[in-house]
Amino acid sequence: MPNEFDVAVIGAGMAGIIAARDLSQKGHSVVLLEARDRMGGRTYTDHAFNGELDLELGGGYVHWTQPHVWRELQRHGMSLKPPMEGGRFYWLADGAVHSGGSEDLYGTVIPLVQRLFADARARFPMPFEVDLLENREIEEETVEDRINSLNLSNYERDVLEGLLAGVIHSCKKQGIAQLLQAAATTFGDFTAFFETAGSWGIQGGTKQLISAIMAESNVELRLSTPIRAVVDNGSGVTITTREGQLINAWSAVVALPLNTLGDVKIHPDLPPAARSMIERRNPVMAHKIWVRVKGEIEPFSMVAPPGKHPINAARFEKHHNGDTLIMCMCADAAALDPADLHAVQAALRKFIPEIEVVDTACHDWVADEFSKGGWMMHRPGTLTTGPALFRKPHGNIYFAGGDVATWGIGSIEGAMASGALAARDLSMALGQGRHRF
Ligand SMILES: Cc1cc2nc3c(=O)[nH]c(=O)nc-3n(C[C@H](O)[C@H](O)[C@H](O)COP(=O)(O)OP(=O)(O)OC[C@H]3O[C@@H](n4cnc5c(N)ncnc54)[C@H](O)[C@@H]3O)c2cc1C
Repeated sequence: MPNEFDVAVIGAGMAGIIAARDLSQKGHSVVLLEARDRMGGRTYTDHAFNGELDLELGGGYVHWTQPHVWRELQRHGMSLKPPMEGGRFYWLADGAVHSGGSEDLYGTVIPLVQRLFADARARFPMPFEVDLLENREIEEETVEDRINSLNLSNYERDVLEGLLAGVIHSCKKQGIAQLLQAAATTFGDFTAFFETAGSWGIQGGTKQLISAIMAESNVELRLSTPIRAVVDNGSGVTITTREGQLINAWSAVVALPLNTLGDVKIHPDLPPAARSMIERRNPVMAHKIWVRVKGEIEPFSMVAPPGKHPINAARFEKHHNGDTLIMCMCADAAALDPADLHAVQAALRKFIPEIEVVDTACHDWVADEFSKGGWMMHRPGTLTTGPALFRKPHGNIYFAGGDVATWGIGSIEGAMASGALAARDLSMALGQGRHRF
């Protein structure tokens, strides 16, 4: 097996797959090294409920306003699945469950969201340049600090935190800056960001999209190949697998989750601000659980503030073979065992007392050694310093990934965008048509 390539791409998530495809299409020889026995990383379309249904156990919602995602979908003739409309809303606030139509919940929460993100566009006038302005005074501000500054009643606070629960793990641990940048990408409107981030699935699933991208790539894919070291010796890069195999390349694209980067030796070491981002880690330790409940129940959605209920967002997905499928997000994975059907049922019964849980499907992204967490959310203090450093070439090593992206951070869009940028920069550096191996 030849072990010399122009480029070694490490990690076959969306970032690595796009980088590898783009580089191979520029004529470079590319090896794609992936630790797991499958591609896709934190996107994972799996056969659930005895193979009856294909479900997205990781990232799955995308939008036509996301330029990289939309270009890939169009390029491969793929479309989107419309989200559920209407249904009854339930929300846990000030110790009680409330219910009503969407206008009852959104009537309260939209003015609060507007106040929370009032300065989004002023702070990030060009959201695609995350470090354009000096935003030091908000960099250290947590989501909790920002909410405290609004002087809300307990009820308002819980409604607002409940609405944020789909993306928040902890208001204490997360900075407000990333949410402001996210709102700025959708014209300063955070409710538009919610639609972008969590409503429309891909027809055929992320798996089909990955197959389509790989079908137009001329890449040598090596699955079940965890990497333990990436060493730049100045004139090239040597990659060492966990089994001790050496792979030489002119350059490498490291497209790994932030929380696994500490397990891989990178030489020379990264600048202190980038190293600090790795050490402080992505705080999101969340679960996405698909729940099958008995019978065809009415469409509904529910939200509850992080820390105040084990399930923080749930939504009717569809009826299936006489039962109902519900998608649940748990801000704190430790608060609910997805395999404990009684516990899941008890958490849902707080809102819909008669609900009967038949089965669940979930991938534990927190325990998985190749992710060690969920979608990326910056801790206070790292948004405008860390990602900008990861964007720059580190000698012959380039970084990509939704976690270190400067645009679409924590999303499939961010992963694709950063993979495409790394491939472009690297290809320019290699010089079109100039191959070492
Ligand atoms: C539960 C959940 C729900 C989400 N929902 C959404 C959503 O609806 N919409 C959205 O846009 N985003 C969502 N996200 C976020 C989105 O999935 C990620 O931002 C995106 O998939 C990250 O892609 P990536 O390529 O940067 O990283 P990853 O997908 O994590 O890919 C990194 C790859 O590196 C591999 N790897 C790790 N360590 C090693 C090693 N030592 N050697 C070799 N390979 C290694 C991993 O196996 C993996 O394949 C969600 C994430 C989770 C976990």
